[in-house]
Amino acid sequence: MSNYNPKSMKAEEFISHEEITDTLRYADENRDNLPLLREILEKAKERKGLDHREASVLLACENEEILNEIYALAEQIKKDFYGNRIVMFAPLYLSNYCVNGCVYCPYHLKNKRIPRKKLTQDEIRAEVIALQDMGHKRLAIEAGEDPVNNPIEYILESIKTIYSIKHKNGAIRRVNVNIAATTVENYRKLKEAGIGTYILFQETYHKESYEQLHPTGPKHDYAYHTEAMDRAMEGGIDDVGLGVLYGLELYRYEFAGLLMHAEHLEAVHGVGPHTISMPRIKRADDIDPTAFDNSISDDVFAKLCALVRISVPYTGMIISTRESAAVRERLLRLGVSQISGASRTSVGGYTEEERPTDTEQFDVSDQRTLDEVVRWLMENGFIPSFCTACYREGRTGDRFMSLCKSGQILNCCHPNALMTLKEFLEDYASPETQAIGNELIEKELLNIPKDIVREKATAYIREIKSGKRDFRF
Ligand code: SAM
Repeated sequence: MSNYNPKSMKAEEFISHEEITDTLRYADENRDNLPLLREILEKAKERKGLDHREASVLLACENEEILNEIYALAEQIKKDFYGNRIVMFAPLYLSNYCVNGCVYCPYHLKNKRIPRKKLTQDEIRAEVIALQDMGHKRLAIEAGEDPVNNPIEYILESIKTIYSIKHKNGAIRRVNVNIAATTVENYRKLKEAGIGTYILFQETYHKESYEQLHPTGPKHDYAYHTEAMDRAMEGGIDDVGLGVLYGLELYRYEFAGLLMHAEHLEAVHGVGPHTISMPRIKRADDIDPTAFDNSISDDVFAKLCALVRISVPYTGMIISTRESAAVRERLLRLGVSQISGASRTSVGGYTEEERPTDTEQFDVSDQRTLDEVVRWLMENGFIPSFCTACYREGRTGDRFMSLCKSGQILNCCHPNALMTLKEFLEDYASPETQAIGNELIEKELLNIPKDIVREKATAYIREIKSGKRDFRF
């Protein structure tokens, strides 16, 4: 009898190793079972998602016709639920002090080569001004785990500082947080500080590998890490972001585990993950990615993204600058909804002229400016969005999901995207980007279905041109 129970609060029961190995066996047995593959695809077309078993069968399948249908469906589902908007964000590294021993991360305790750095509040101010001057409105703050150097009080003070800075027309309107697993009490404090999403990558769902990859420090505790999202939700945070670091373990194992985690959150809290990030392991200071033998090809990565999109249609999908422009371009068509731009993954990196390398957490592949990324998105038919309206309007957790499900995105998120893009064009864009953007806005305004919303959005955009800011539906 398997111990699998999605409603359990115990990591090893909602991420059951036995259930995953059974799932992978079932997927192997059925990878060429065309009637079953077709049946699963038909279910995916209903846009209600797939469970980990169904999705794993599609992942095992290599039939080209089926794969092409998966890709087309992923693109269509993204269009239906999210339209052609791509939300922009940037990471902000606060501190690389860390007491953990993660073998894939250059911030691990034993790395004596990298200078350790923790931003003061004044330095945070300078970084945030640099980010605002590019046009960013949404950040993900990142820090190593170190109860002495980076206690929760430091994180809370930093969030307060970030929200308080209003430089020229700039503002950071949403701070997402990517810090180590913590207590319900600390999650409650983060919620009170007004964070957007709490992001925590599982790294790997394979317990034995997890323990080997995190040999020392508090992160070694698999159950404490895996159950973190339940504590976050208990602390009142209802937007949580999952992720696996691809390359550490067998991707098929990770994919089944990831979907089981999403199913668990839905079963227990009534709301699935707000986002799923898709990071792949990268070269960094003393880290050689070839030392990890589970790296995945660009083709497998694309297949994984497409399957995430059709398995959890309401969940946002994030691709960072770990990926090159070419890979990002391909993935955008397979359901990605959020990307970072002009990222610096070093502590204090945004205020340095030269791209620093000595404290980088990983090498950045896409090194373009935000203006270049925004222009490239528009040239590829996407609307770059700097919108942060949902959580500021209280549309988090299941309220956000019901907005998605009600099909009101075109009357709500679409105009919000256009208005925040207009702000970017007015305040930060190059003349070339402005020209492309203004034309796009004119065209896209016509796609707002409700007359009243379309008229209001058109009027707000006129007001943005004459200097007003921060309109939202
Ligand atoms: N320290 C926090 C924790 O323990 O969860 C999170 C912050 S860490 C800055 C963000 C993520 O970067 C990690 O969860 C990990 O998945 C990823 N990361 C670490 N080393 C990496 C590497 N060499 N290449 C790509 N991503 C990496």
